[in-house]
Amino acid sequence: MSKLANQVAVVTGASKGIGAGIAKALAAEGASVVVNYASSKAGADKVVADITAAGGKAIAVQGDVSKQADITNLFAETKKAYGRLDILVNNAGVYAFAPLDQITEESFHTQFNLNVLGLLLTTKEAATYFGPEGGSVINISSAITSLKPPASSIYTATKASVDAITVILSRELGPRKIRVNSINPGLIATEGTQTTGVLGSDFETGFVATNPLGRVGQVEDLNPAAVFLASSDSKYLTGEIINISGGSR
Ligand code: NAP
Repeated sequence: MSKLANQVAVVTGASKGIGAGIAKALAAEGASVVVNYASSKAGADKVVADITAAGGKAIAVQGDVSKQADITNLFAETKKAYGRLDILVNNAGVYAFAPLDQITEESFHTQFNLNVLGLLLTTKEAATYFGPEGGSVINISSAITSLKPPASSIYTATKASVDAITVILSRELGPRKIRVNSINPGLIATEGTQTTGVLGSDFETGFVATNPLGRVGQVEDLNPAAVFLASSDSKYLTGEIINISGGSR
């Protein structure tokens, strides 16, 4: 029996990268998946096509999850398509790196508005849709909260906020059987780390040199943990922050 049969999942930022991988993994275990994206319609449609071709169920829903109106619409569309909500993966996020003298207000607000405020507003909305049997919220934070490399003040601060929020909301939502956990990836090869130049930078070289398993992670390295946290296999687990970083900490 599939681990997520009859379950409905929303994965934010699932048109590429980590979100796309997790969306496909949840669908492969039987979940109906809402593939959210901000601008890459073609990417989201491809993820939906891959899921459907493999015998799964998915729809794509556009929405900027740093904006309340788009978040409201995302869950309304989910309810319309599948009638319920069981799993939320708060994956959508942005990262930009700059030393102190190059920090800008704009970069602060862009990263905090999506990575922190967006995650809170999305979880708030989802909490109104989870049924009496509860649900599972999986936040995608980052192992960067323990690595704390130079030139990452804003991004690391957003994810440190996410780590705090994971524990706080596990306490708030536990009585409703809504579990809140976090996956904190190390450096993962994605479209995002490619286009922002993180891959190929000194940061990658340093990460690999000190990584106990000696490599950058792949999206697929995260999927089993996402399925575990989404499923009842983890039913007595909440408020946990799981580093998946090849041992980098
Ligand atoms: P990515 O390849 O850049 O993909 C980002 C995804 O988020 C895309 O689907 C994008 O949609 C979506 N997105 C961006 N802004 C959005 C918004 N306002 N509303 C809704 N969706 C939005 O990123 P990634 O590397 O997979 O990272 C995904 C998550 O993992 C982020 O939270 C990141 O901080 C975290 N993380 C990544 C790494 C890593 O090394 N890659 C490590 C640790 C943690 P569009 O394509 O439509 O814009």
